Amino acid sequence: MRSQITSGLVTDVMIGIVGGGQLARMMNEAATPLGLRVALLAEAPGVSAAQVVPDAVVGDYTDEATLLAFARGVDALTFDHEHVPAVVLRACVDAGVAVRPGPDALLYAQDKAAMRARLSEMGVPCPAWRVVATPADLIAFGDEIGWPIIAKTSRGGYDGKGVWKVDGPGEVAAPFAALSRALGPTERVDAGTDAAASGDVVIVAEEFVPFTRELSVLVVRRPGGESVTYPVSETVQRDGICHETTTPAPGLDAARAEAIAAFATRIAGELGVVGVLAVELMERDNGEVVVNELAMRPHNTGHWTIEGALTSQFENHLRAVADLPLGSTRMTAPVAVMSNVLGGDNPDLVGSLPVVLADPEVRVHLYGKGVKPGRKVGHVTVCGSDIAATQAAARAASDHLEGRTHG
Ligand code: ADP
Repeated sequence: MRSQITSGLVTDVMIGIVGGGQLARMMNEAATPLGLRVALLAEAPGVSAAQVVPDAVVGDYTDEATLLAFARGVDALTFDHEHVPAVVLRACVDAGVAVRPGPDALLYAQDKAAMRARLSEMGVPCPAWRVVATPADLIAFGDEIGWPIIAKTSRGGYDGKGVWKVDGPGEVAAPFAALSRALGPTERVDAGTDAAASGDVVIVAEEFVPFTRELSVLVVRRPGGESVTYPVSETVQRDGICHETTTPAPGLDAARAEAIAAFATRIAGELGVVGVLAVELMERDNGEVVVNELAMRPHNTGHWTIEGALTSQFENHLRAVADLPLGSTRMTAPVAVMSNVLGGDNPDLVGSLPVVLADPEVRVHLYGKGVKPGRKVGHVTVCGSDIAATQAAARAASDHLEGRTHG
């Protein structure tokens, strides 16, 4: 540790962030008022967070020597993404670096087979699932559970890539074809299933959950176990990408919300997560929920907290990583709606600001990224009291930034 956090007195604390995307950019914003300093290991010069962090270096986070050199200069290491190989993180832990969250927890955000095995062991509600080795095994699973089914690669998927809806036995080839393309040298990890133990990419078959909506809940946990949860959000995903969140999730009864918060907190505790844990859920038509997946970093479904909660997910993540007391997650308004801005027909986001900001309730976050089709380039948040009106205001702003409306 290059400086000390003692008796509540924080002196020149440097948080190292691996990855220079928008999450790191927004963590940096949250670090400033706390007086925490941020160092960045970016993938390339000029990426989203590298534009705003003075202590940014460019390097390969999969290279042990590079990450160690970076990590030795910081008080605690955290992440913009979950792709740092476990062996590299273990080398940092062995060198005395405070890796938060650590590799033993991160495994369950990196490997869906390990995550399903562990959550099932814990009795957390999941869809029926099985690791399948061959197309014939996938067919057997579908015949048993009923078609359609879902097939996923256990590692390396994001924004819906690596997830297939398989309608019948005739369609089982696609996931395995993608698997053989994805297979390459992978790191060894220790985990509860054979597949995860080898670190191999495998296919996880899941029951197709005919969910009525998707939900998300965020827990933030300090190293000693203190934790807070945010209100549950309803999330709208299209093509595997988060488009919109509404918080609190409309119509979710208080007992169900409490139960969700309780098992999310238990997951964070049992896995030893430090920082933000996002638990993505699917809600069935009878109101029951099952876990879809886990993320261990600030999450797209928590962007609303910047304006909509007393303490943002980014600030609470940093507080947890720096082992400081966590801030209140109380909402600042009855409803908060976040709408993502995806790359579309409008190449000039800043040029759209005069129109978008004409609504004084709209809060805009642009990530400094080049506009490419479907790429997350920003988000807007509106807080209000009427759900439909707040959603309409947020959608109008993001539609305009995406170039889908004019004037
Ligand atoms: P990624 O890691 O790419 O985000 P996810 O596992 O979250 O992939 O799946 C992406 C989307 O696919 C989910 O948001 C959900 O809409 C859908 N999905 C995933 N698993 C299931 C399932 N078992 N049943 C129905 N839909 C699913």
